[in-house]
Amino acid sequence: MEDYPRTIAEFEAWFSQEAACRDYLVRMRWPNGFRCPSCGHSNASMVRETLFQCARCRRQTSVTAGTIFQDIRKPLTMWFRAMWYVTSQKNGASALGVQRVLGLGSYQTAWVWLHKLRRAMVRPDRDRLSGWIELDETYFGGLEEGRIGRGRVTKALIVIAVQAEGPVIGRIRMRVIPDASADSLQGFVKDCIAPGSTIHTDGWVGYSGLQNAGYEHEVTRRGKDPKLAAKLLPRVHRVISLLKRWLLGTHQGGISNQHLDYYLDEFTFRFNRRKSGSRGKLFYRLVEQSLMTAPEPYQAIVRRGKLSSPQAQSDVGPQAQSIGVG
Ligand SMILES: [Zn+2]
Repeated sequence: MEDYPRTIAEFEAWFSQEAACRDYLVRMRWPNGFRCPSCGHSNASMVRETLFQCARCRRQTSVTAGTIFQDIRKPLTMWFRAMWYVTSQKNGASALGVQRVLGLGSYQTAWVWLHKLRRAMVRPDRDRLSGWIELDETYFGGLEEGRIGRGRVTKALIVIAVQAEGPVIGRIRMRVIPDASADSLQGFVKDCIAPGSTIHTDGWVGYSGLQNAGYEHEVTRRGKDPKLAAKLLPRVHRVISLLKRWLLGTHQGGISNQHLDYYLDEFTFRFNRRKSGSRGKLFYRLVEQSLMTAPEPYQAIVRRGKLSSPQAQSDVGPQAQSIGVG
């Protein structure tokens, strides 16, 4: 049963009340009706807005416990609106946009909400890519853009895998890696690409162990000309350029290396569902995955950007109100 609003009018008629949002979560979490996690009993009474009490063992269970909605202070209706806003727009939303649309008092709240939602955008159990895969890395961040060789400066190094479906781009995976060593690259490959797949790369030595790791390896050596690289691995370079346009457009480039992985998750979430006929389906997936994602405390999300990076001036974290590139 995949039941979701198709239009904003449907969304507003459906989710204007707290009870409707709660019922939607309850139905998604317990598709066959409530079950007590302690004793399996199905009869429960509601003791508070999202809290059920088992009629047999009296255990209390919240529909939001253990999900990203655990301990939220604002009403579910606002969270639902945030999820609709993020998924209904082709390019997603910036924290500033969410703050404005929801009328949130602080930029910080909107920023943290978006980061909580991004945690839910990647399913831990998702399939690996398979078949013919193009693989390459790119740098992002800092004052300069583009590829500057394989040494890491303050830029983040991103590895990207793109599944080919004939001439067309299929699903993608991407991740920030510490360096372009064989260990870093192969760790990503093993997590994201099924053995037996053919991986097409340039001649970088970090890829030389792929065959021993159980993959077919197609190598095209690139010359000095970066334009040539885009021709040799056209799909992955198309994705790199769309990714950079999104990071620099929707988010104005103001992203620290510590948070970048979560933005990549959001890009991937949207990209892999770009052919989905309905934006409502993305909303449905986000709600569904939010219920499967453990909560990360507010302070942990905020701290990630502040403590670990002395060079994160470009981070549009909760402290920064202004947004600038680089
Ligand atoms: Zn019980």
